[in-house]
Amino acid sequence: MIDLSGRRALVTGASRGIGRAIALELARRGASVAVNYRARADAAEQVVAAIHDAGGRATAVRADVTDFDAVQAMVKHVTDELGGLDILVNNAGIIGDAYLMMLKPEAWREVIAVSLDGAFHCTKAAIRPMMRGRWGRIVNISSDAGLMGDVMRAHYASAKAGLLGLTKSTARELAGRGITCNAVAPGIIETDLTADMDEKREQAMLGLIPLGRFGEPEEVAPLVAWLCSDAAGYITGQTISVDGGLRM
Ligand code: NAD
Repeated sequence: MIDLSGRRALVTGASRGIGRAIALELARRGASVAVNYRARADAAEQVVAAIHDAGGRATAVRADVTDFDAVQAMVKHVTDELGGLDILVNNAGIIGDAYLMMLKPEAWREVIAVSLDGAFHCTKAAIRPMMRGRWGRIVNISSDAGLMGDVMRAHYASAKAGLLGLTKSTARELAGRGITCNAVAPGIIETDLTADMDEKREQAMLGLIPLGRFGEPEEVAPLVAWLCSDAAGYITGQTISVDGGLRM
């Protein structure tokens, strides 16, 4: 049984998709959860309401993770409101499709800014409160694309690969402080992010997945919750795929 009672968690990009499932799962396991969102306050409030309805504790908090000042203010607000911060899940991310020849530098920078800069900003801001508590769990939501590369997604794959360097460096730097840092690499999970995949690509991808189907956000969240538990205290700097066997 994963017990996160008494833990205080911040999940970025948690108003929908995988982040939403993670926020609900952490709360179900007993953590108080800050549901970060960038624009959709209504969706974030719905996640908070679902957690409250189930008897949990949650609050919604707005911040664009690409903005370091906003992230610092968010972490201060969350730490004040929840009484500390023990768990950070860097989930916020965006994607885009463009062949390298067509990939605009602005699109490259935008994708890197959310997934990689955003995770750096949140990690940097969360370290101090975690160190105060001498305990911490950071989980970065990377992607199989970061391990395998991906056609039309050089920016996305690079951001997700960069996240693995951040994961290992954070793990090494903070190991002595009781803080672990791991990455979870989903394969293809059915969310808004993957909703408009064209039929040809969908069939091609399905053919590469031994389990023969795409995953659900609820199949990613339990691993994240477990990595945030005491039971995973001797695991740090690792990347675990949740992908139906795609990357083995
Ligand atoms: P999603 O688009 O449903 O969710 C992404 C969330 O990030 C959204 O809530 C969005 O508002 C938020 N976000 C985007 N930019 C932000 C910013 N600047 N500041 C704060 N929040 C921001 O997609 P998802 O599939 O749930 O993806 C969640 C994470 O999982 C992403 O990092 C994604 O790269 C990763 N991932 C997804 C898949 C998949 O197949 N769905 C596969 C591998 C990795």
